[in-house]
Amino acid sequence: MRFSDPLSAHVRVDGAHQKSLKRLNIETVGSLLYHLPARYEDITDVQSVGGLEKGQEAVVYGQLSGLKTRKAWKSRKPIAEGMVEDGSAKMKIMWFNQPYIAKMYTDGMYVKLAGKVAGSEGKLYLSNPEVEPLDSLPVDRHDSLFVGTDANLDDTLYPIYRETKGVTSRWLYHTALKLFEQGALKALIDPIPKEILNKYNLPDLPSALVFAHSPKKAKDAEAARKRFAFEEVFYIQIQKAQERAAVSAAQTYTIVTGKDHLAAFTDRFPFDLTGSQANSINEILKDFGSNHAMSRLLEGDVGSGKTAVAATTAYAVATSRPPEGMKSGGEGAGLSAIDYGALQIAYMAPTEILAKQHFESFIEYFHHLPIQIGLITGSGCMKFPSKTDPTKPTKISKKQLTDWIRNGEVPIVIGTHALIYKSVEFKHLAYVIIDEQHRFGTNQRKKLAKKDARIPHLLSMTATPIPRTLALTIYGDLDITLLDEMPKGRKPVKTTIVGPGQSKAMYEHVESELTNGRQAYVICPRIDEPDPTKENALNMKSVIAEAKRLKKDVFQNWTIATLHGKMTPAEKDKVMKDFSEHKIDILCATSVIEVGVSVANATNIIIEGAERFGLAQLHQLRGRVIRGTHQAHCFAVTESKSDKTRNRLKALATAKNGFELAEHDLQFRGGGELYGGKQSGLSDLGMEAIRNLKLVEAARTEAKHLVAKHPNLARDFPLIHEKVIHLGAVLHME
Ligand code: ADP
Ligand code: MG
Repeated sequence: MRFSDPLSAHVRVDGAHQKSLKRLNIETVGSLLYHLPARYEDITDVQSVGGLEKGQEAVVYGQLSGLKTRKAWKSRKPIAEGMVEDGSAKMKIMWFNQPYIAKMYTDGMYVKLAGKVAGSEGKLYLSNPEVEPLDSLPVDRHDSLFVGTDANLDDTLYPIYRETKGVTSRWLYHTALKLFEQGALKALIDPIPKEILNKYNLPDLPSALVFAHSPKKAKDAEAARKRFAFEEVFYIQIQKAQERAAVSAAQTYTIVTGKDHLAAFTDRFPFDLTGSQANSINEILKDFGSNHAMSRLLEGDVGSGKTAVAATTAYAVATSRPPEGMKSGGEGAGLSAIDYGALQIAYMAPTEILAKQHFESFIEYFHHLPIQIGLITGSGCMKFPSKTDPTKPTKISKKQLTDWIRNGEVPIVIGTHALIYKSVEFKHLAYVIIDEQHRFGTNQRKKLAKKDARIPHLLSMTATPIPRTLALTIYGDLDITLLDEMPKGRKPVKTTIVGPGQSKAMYEHVESELTNGRQAYVICPRIDEPDPTKENALNMKSVIAEAKRLKKDVFQNWTIATLHGKMTPAEKDKVMKDFSEHKIDILCATSVIEVGVSVANATNIIIEGAERFGLAQLHQLRGRVIRGTHQAHCFAVTESKSDKTRNRLKALATAKNGFELAEHDLQFRGGGELYGGKQSGLSDLGMEAIRNLKLVEAARTEAKHLVAKHPNLARDFPLIHEKVIHLGAVLHME
């Protein structure tokens, strides 16, 4: 048996079943065995319904029945109730003050319940249990698989797998065991070199698979998880190290800029650069001066002044000439005539609004110089300066602009994705700046650069605070610069946590701000009416419903508009424009405003359902209101009464910057919840690994060594090579 064998060659699977398995990406023997348990349950934690006693905190698995809602006999308060049965007995369940529970679940559902046993002898019930729906009961506790087979078992763990309709956790478990029995682990070669495993005390592949799927001890399961986590991060690091090596090997534009030359540009700023900004600029210029193309990520909170860094470094490039022999010829007038034949810069933004904002900022920074700036978006092109009025930009045709980009006449081009369309071709593209799309940076550089041209330097900028371990992994091919200092005199946002029943004071405050001429954002977690079948849906305020409610009950005298992801780009643009022109007082939005929108007069932000967001995300949302000179306020509203939630949110008021909050999120909520497997390309296990700095650094070090020592990885380590290729295919699919 080989890992690449189709599963159906060894296990009976019919067509429907096969389809279901495919949803879990399980098609081969190997992919089934690599579908690792998401977690383990300790059988000793699980009680049988029949054995429960009053006062016990119980966890039971069973099937629901008889769900209904009624009013309490005396208090008339709503109660949801039902029964749970697990084969040993049947017991009543009651949820007080949560009438919607009965509608969220259905009779016949398999669930895990965790709650307290209350009532009196003979009339016991499970009180307010938490419900976790299951596709089936994970493993039948009453088949004697785990119980009493081995007196030496100090733990009695059983694995719980991620399931899908038609594929149960139980089936996955039994199939893994069956494949082991049939010899799946014989002749299995471990792709990870033995020295590395030994060095970090990791189990080899066959042991790790057995440990993962049927651990005898918690320690074994732990060791297996560590090994697979290492393996996943290791392959990613190999890929990043290879990308880095490829960039290093390629020819680039070497740009050398004198101090005075640069000072002539920055001295004109109406402010002094922060220490962080000056450092970042120096680091970038140092990279420019070397023979290898830069690949750098610039991370800084909203308002930390990334644009000034982008503009200054773009200036260094736009005033540099292509190397001898590559000149377009004719000009030769020395550095004073920098309008023709200079190196070029492409600056990409994720949205049209942002591209326009950058275009306007760049005009501010460059208007005194003979350096032309182009703007290219889906809805048209602009150029600065206009021929007729050199103080203003002008609309031009796409054909005209792309011609000027092609012959090198326009050195700075700002735009959206429209920039990577085929018709935009640069003469000497030396520098690519990418705003808020760090994930795509490397790919976009490839797309922007001409084939067999020199490879441009890359600066990827983001306000998304990322924990260090995650950055090292998913941006492992980039050097990282932090902009962790805010410009002087910027007042931090005053943040208030607003609990149940405390919204009156908040609304009064916002009302007074509106009266003083300010504007406000209200952020809600959902767009439409809540879907009552979804857990917690009833507590979520929707953008549309909330806007209506605010207009009717709270802010009758003010103009309220909505902004959310289901609107077309044109609709969004219109609303944003109206908001920035103060035709709208209150903007009720989903978290789509998270990226880049800047309205200086909007100094208040109310975030509903704050507990649903990560702290780093809340921090970014709050960053929307620190642009102006007025004191800004953020209200994080939560209906949650839990101390844990309130305490977590309190970190918002005390943290020094976004990075601190990102680390906080990672430790307390786990990475997966925040950055999502899809977004980062990491599995749940990989996200878990990200919590472990030592593991990430080990994987990174080993990967670097291996790539440096074995440039021909395909020949020397074909198994690793294959895994890395596969990784690339998965990551570039989206
Ligand atoms: P970011 O892109 O990092 O969110 P911007 O570059 O847009 O931040 O800068 C935000 C605002 O701060 C802009 O109005 C800019 O002119 C201003 N700014 C940038 N650097 C400084 C500084 N060192 N001192 C004062 N103001 C600054
Ligand atoms: Mg910015």
